[in-house]
Amino acid sequence: MAKKDPTDLSVEEKLKTLYQLQTTLSAIDEKRALRGELPLEVQDLEDEIQGLTTRAEKIASEIKEFQSAIDQKKGEITTAEASVAKYKSQLDDVKNNREYDTLSKEIEFQTLEIELCNKKIKEATVQVAEKQQELDETQAQIEDRRSDLEQKRSELDAIMQETREEEDKLKEKAKDLETKIEPRLLGSFKRIRKSARNGLGIVTVQRDACGGCFNKIPPQRQLDIKMHKKIVVCEYCGRIMIDPELAGIKTETAAEEKPKRKRAIRKTAKKAEEE
Ligand SMILES: [Zn+2]
Repeated sequence: MAKKDPTDLSVEEKLKTLYQLQTTLSAIDEKRALRGELPLEVQDLEDEIQGLTTRAEKIASEIKEFQSAIDQKKGEITTAEASVAKYKSQLDDVKNNREYDTLSKEIEFQTLEIELCNKKIKEATVQVAEKQQELDETQAQIEDRRSDLEQKRSELDAIMQETREEEDKLKEKAKDLETKIEPRLLGSFKRIRKSARNGLGIVTVQRDACGGCFNKIPPQRQLDIKMHKKIVVCEYCGRIMIDPELAGIKTETAAEEKPKRKRAIRKTAKKAEEE
């Protein structure tokens, strides 16, 4: 068997590998954070444009309805006017008062019909004008959102282009590291990471506290962590804990506990102050 079975790894190696995975995943998270809200903003704009387009279509069809109602009323007017003309010509040769009254009433009725139609046309014309204005505004909004969308999309594309290659490499690395970790441990690490707001599943001990939730770690637990003999989790947040030294991190606490390295650290600090 060329490849080492992940379960054969020592706790130390497991922790180191997990920490490397964490660093890689955090780097991916950072790249994603760089894209920030842009993908969401693009999505929102697309949705908004979709909604506005539907609204514009609805208004346009309402305008069409009003216009066809106007056409219908115009047709009715033409018919009524023809009737009026016909009745008026008949008035010239009426035989009696009764016939005269009937025709007069018809003419009056048709005239009222024409007035009513004209009133309806007027109302519909006002509606068409209002709807047209609404439609123009909606279309202006669509144009506005479209140019926003174009801008956001090109921003996002630029960032994606910049980060994609690096992100792909990081993803490849993470994938490789994941094969080195036993599935059970990897599973619980991923679970912790998912529920953690900062995306950290494994954290270093920082000033005697958990580097994830910053609660103090009891001395016995700290000792267990330093021994690298078993996997220790934070009793408050459940994150896996790693000795900073094993993680390859120098901390103040670690320096203080090791007088030999103190001078070097101080020197660096002094140098930094001078600069
Ligand atoms: Zn914690």
